[in-house]
Amino acid sequence: MRNRWIYVLGLLLAADYLHAHQSPATATYLGNEGVLVERGDTKVLFDAFYSNSYGTYTLVPDEMASAMLAGEPPYDGIDAIFVSHVHGDHFSAGPAVAYLRAHPKVPIYGSQQTLEAIADEVGADDALLERVVAVDLAPTDAPASFKIDGISIEVVAIPHSGDRPEIQNLSWRVTLDQLTTVTHFGDAGTVKEDFERHAEHFAARRSQAAFPPYWFLESEDGKAIIQTHFNADQVIGVHVPAAATGNGDEARAKVGGDLFTDPGESRKLN
Ligand SMILES: [Zn+2]
Ligand SMILES: [Zn+2]
Repeated sequence: MRNRWIYVLGLLLAADYLHAHQSPATATYLGNEGVLVERGDTKVLFDAFYSNSYGTYTLVPDEMASAMLAGEPPYDGIDAIFVSHVHGDHFSAGPAVAYLRAHPKVPIYGSQQTLEAIADEVGADDALLERVVAVDLAPTDAPASFKIDGISIEVVAIPHSGDRPEIQNLSWRVTLDQLTTVTHFGDAGTVKEDFERHAEHFAARRSQAAFPPYWFLESEDGKAIIQTHFNADQVIGVHVPAAATGNGDEARAKVGGDLFTDPGESRKLN
């Protein structure tokens, strides 16, 4: 009898292992720089809660935002949320707090400015703030890292494009089940020195996908940084203006690389 239970347990462990290792990882576009990355049951969101298009960028479509809030597949079982910076086309406290209230176990990782924006929304004593993991990193600071069940997290600050030192912009590198790594760059600028000082960090782990703002694919400096530092199997540009929605092939041909343009489109990750 005991042997049989050991046998059954072995089968269950094998099935679990195969599930985690065989199910392909995917990245699904939500809008602007919002991406859902999933590998089996391990799922994370980047820049998924924001409410300002500034008249130029894509919002998360209402149906997708409602499904996320309700935790309907594929947005069920989200393990963690990451925020690059607090500009309104990447993060708005209102929708983020609504999500955190509806999903009382999900942690959110962001900058000190993200924490302050959420605290302004809910008040300084709200228990929800215990789930906000804030890093107060300057561009010259060493990377920070975290580990939660099934997910390894590393982060550096890369200055925002267009000389905006007042805004903390974070580049999150997240590894799911020790097998699939993705890097998000927020609104990083294409300044070589900002990447060179973190060369060791970027070289230390290969990404299956990197999500830079599209301007990296349009400039010589950006392309050089992709070549030298991104260390990624796939590069998928994000933050493409909404005018390209429905015209993705044209936009991709124009930059000679991959872009997310239509909320809901996805890519398999190796
Ligand atoms: Zn920005
Ligand atoms: Zn932006």
